[in-house]
Amino acid sequence: MKTYKYRVYPTKKQASEIDLQIEKCRLLYNKLLALKKDAYKNKSVRLSRKDLYRRVKGNKEMYSQVSQNVADRIDKAYKNFFARIKRDERKKGFPRFKKYGTYNSITLPQITKPKNIGKKTRFPKIGWLNIKYHRVLQGTPKIMTIKKAKSGKYFVTIFCDNMPKEKITVGNGEVGIDFGLNHFITTSNSEFFDHPKPLGKMSEKRKVLAKKFSKTKKKSNNRNKARVKLAIMDEQIANTRNDFGWKLCRKLIEKYGTIYIENLNVKGMLKNHYLAREITDVSWSDFTSKLFFKAESAGGKIVKMNPKNTSQKCSGCGEIVRKTLTMRIHKCHHCSLEIDRDINAAQNILITGIGLEQPKSTPVGDETSTDGISPKQVLPMKQETPYNSRG
Ligand SMILES: [Zn+2]
Repeated sequence: MKTYKYRVYPTKKQASEIDLQIEKCRLLYNKLLALKKDAYKNKSVRLSRKDLYRRVKGNKEMYSQVSQNVADRIDKAYKNFFARIKRDERKKGFPRFKKYGTYNSITLPQITKPKNIGKKTRFPKIGWLNIKYHRVLQGTPKIMTIKKAKSGKYFVTIFCDNMPKEKITVGNGEVGIDFGLNHFITTSNSEFFDHPKPLGKMSEKRKVLAKKFSKTKKKSNNRNKARVKLAIMDEQIANTRNDFGWKLCRKLIEKYGTIYIENLNVKGMLKNHYLAREITDVSWSDFTSKLFFKAESAGGKIVKMNPKNTSQKCSGCGEIVRKTLTMRIHKCHHCSLEIDRDINAAQNILITGIGLEQPKSTPVGDETSTDGISPKQVLPMKQETPYNSRG
């Protein structure tokens, strides 16, 4: 399964019709939600999805499937809510009414002529859409959504299934990966991968825009302009990050058939104790899901590990070597191993991953203590940054 996203260039008339349909959907959403809440409150009746379908029937202003999808969304909101209760999450998020501007898409849940998608695309009530298919659509198109982004641009997302297997030759190697603040990724083979430089510049630019936005008066015209600028910046950042993420995934999978990574929920919590790094956290978890997705479609394997002690433990002898976040080098007094701290962490992830028994600790200066670790893993400090060098 895969979701494609394309830019839509609607005519002025179409754009206002899309806006109108979105607004109608929002009002319908609130109406159905009110019905559902009232039925439960006053009659202890839980309206099912089909009950809601009956309420939207006969509405001529909207395409039937599109209005049914509004009922689906409420159903989904409730399901997610109950799931959060079950998991006992702190934020339960009871389904809420949608304020103006917080509902931004309309969905056609069943594409009737999938073969036409990719050439001529029609959305009910809107008409023929001018879509820029910048990449070839594969699989069978199932669901289509038109979304109005905060930047004011229109996009269409098309959900496809029956995807052909991706043509990636999965590598034979095994590798451990450490997500870090210094380098985005460090592998147990001493490779460093950093975010492309433009992303850093964009983040700086975003900070400036965010500051400008915060200084504008509420409900002013300038505030609106600043909001759009910020949204466009966010889109650019997301595009650059996605592009980088997919390419890096491919690169790793082509080299390594099995990739060991850390369970980021735990790691994120630990790290945030010291540093708040929302952007980094987001890109880690986002990258992880990309990696899982790509590996699955190509036939590779991703294994999640508990990150306990990966940075403190010595990958050479298994002893705990305490270090603060600022200490970039892992220097072991037990086996005299001296390597970059992130490489050490990545090697620990690999070792735990393949279930190697940690060699027992040996006295200081005993060189035999690196037994069990292949020589290539204990590399000198300075390494090339293969990805970063390409910009
Ligand atoms: Zn050691």
